[in-house]
Amino acid sequence: MNKDEKARLRKTLLQRRASLPPEERKEKGEKIRDNFFSLPFYEKSKTIMFYLSLPTEVPTDEMIERAFLEGKKIAVPCIKEGNIFPSLLTSPSQTEIGRFRIREPKKKKFISTEELDLVVVPGCGFDLKGHRIGFGKGFYDRFLSELKESVPLVALAFEIQIIEEIPSDKWDVQMDYIVTERRIIKIK
Ligand code: ADP
Ligand code: MG
Repeated sequence: MNKDEKARLRKTLLQRRASLPPEERKEKGEKIRDNFFSLPFYEKSKTIMFYLSLPTEVPTDEMIERAFLEGKKIAVPCIKEGNIFPSLLTSPSQTEIGRFRIREPKKKKFISTEELDLVVVPGCGFDLKGHRIGFGKGFYDRFLSELKESVPLVALAFEIQIIEEIPSDKWDVQMDYIVTERRIIKIK
């Protein structure tokens, strides 16, 4: 049973992330952003799914802004009935608060998962095998399992969110890359 162990790790990791001083969060966030844009497959991707960051998550607003200006189509998650559906974000400032206080586009324009060329994934913690701990509801596991094998899954994390080992269950989807303020980890 990994459930209890995951719950224990999730709590520790969330506390750790929340205790980052705002200045450090900003500084590290900028390095993560720069590392993200150095990923070789970024250029080629036409439609990118980001997440709209919660206050303690690796911030994505500036990344979205830049990708938008560089002509990328931006999709973000909308949660409906316990599932993630990607919606286009046609104007980065036009958002409203949705389920779990997560921002969503005001005007939703749902797109097929097949359109996505790159998916940016949030999380509470990761290990070097690409295992992930999310919010404990399996939203991303269900969503990511529907994507084509070729779509790179890129997790954004502060280095303090990387731990030795995360227990994994059969439904857990592994990341392909983890981008931190210090490095780009390519899994396997
Ligand atoms: P998280 O990844 O959010 O940290 P878990 O990996 O523990 O959380 O998943 C939470 C729950 O979501 C699991 O109990 C599991 O039953 C359910 N779940 C995850 N992925 C799937 C899936 N592909 N199909 C059905 N249920 C799933
Ligand atoms: Mg999981």
